[in-house]
Amino acid sequence: MALNPQTARRYQEKLLAHKKQLEETMSSAVVQGRETVADDTLDIADQAVISYQKEFLFSQGTHGHHQLRMVHQALSRLREGSFGECVHCGEEIGVKRLEALPWTPYCIVCKEKMEKGELEDPARAA
Ligand SMILES: [Zn+2]
Repeated sequence: MALNPQTARRYQEKLLAHKKQLEETMSSAVVQGRETVADDTLDIADQAVISYQKEFLFSQGTHGHHQLRMVHQALSRLREGSFGECVHCGEEIGVKRLEALPWTPYCIVCKEKMEKGELEDPARAA
């Protein structure tokens, strides 16, 4: 799909804004994680809360990494001119889908197949 320069630029801006937001969320998750270091003076209930919080922050960080990788890949597809094509089947990704999720590498058909387990998600498996 040949994007016109204005459209490409608009998607690039969206992607960069999302990237910045993810980086901020992730760095604050790391900071909070550091602040919740186990303390000997805490009772068991408090320690349980802390380990739960740590796990939550960790999962947020992992999710962030995955998202960030998708954003990076979308930005390189934008540079290469393959942005807007499903990386799996090569079909065009719908405009509405791209507007909502500009970093998505898959068209809705492939995405649905992945959610049903009919298709492997290479981005997640990698
Ligand atoms: Zn597809």
